Amino acid sequence: MLVPIELYGLTQRMGHLSPDLAIGWQIGKYVHEFFDGLQEVRIAVAAEGDAAFALSYLSREHGCYGQVTVTETPRPWDFLFYHAVTGTALHFTLIRKHIVLSQGLRSLEPHLAMDKPAVVEIYRTGLDLLVESILKRPVDSFCKIRQIRCRPLLQTAENNSTIRCCRCGKSSFVQNAWDIEGQICCQTCSGLEPAWFMYH
Ligand SMILES: [Zn+2]
Repeated sequence: MLVPIELYGLTQRMGHLSPDLAIGWQIGKYVHEFFDGLQEVRIAVAAEGDAAFALSYLSREHGCYGQVTVTETPRPWDFLFYHAVTGTALHFTLIRKHIVLSQGLRSLEPHLAMDKPAVVEIYRTGLDLLVESILKRPVDSFCKIRQIRCRPLLQTAENNSTIRCCRCGKSSFVQNAWDIEGQICCQTCSGLEPAWFMYH
């Protein structure tokens, strides 16, 4: 399988090239192209794993944060990116059927530890084909991508005036409020990661 040289280097460090690593790589490259770099791009992932590792690597190499937030509770997306300069968030939700092994191959998993080279070979080949297919496909063929406009409303507001969140109805200080697709929201309803607000 031919892999990009930079991914090859990462694979050598990881010791393997998994479907999850390929997914993180492809999404990271997509976002890199979308925002013309990864500077100022905040990244959150809904699960620890090779995809988070690949994104963390790409962010360190091509951005400046090198930090990926791994969420502690479930989110409505698998990956979230926020680019403050353009006020854009991208949600990625994986389409599972395109990124998992077939049922037939998964049924081999309990047998892999049993010293059956033929079974391991079949499984390995299936895994390689899946990785290859993820690396060849456009990202939007295995992910649903949503683009959302979001900007801090008036972060320089000096008074303590409040505003009502149009999603939850609670009042929020104007300097903490967000404009999400034209709706005024509190931080909690903004859809962005709470950990990011310390920078705003
Ligand atoms: Zn709210």
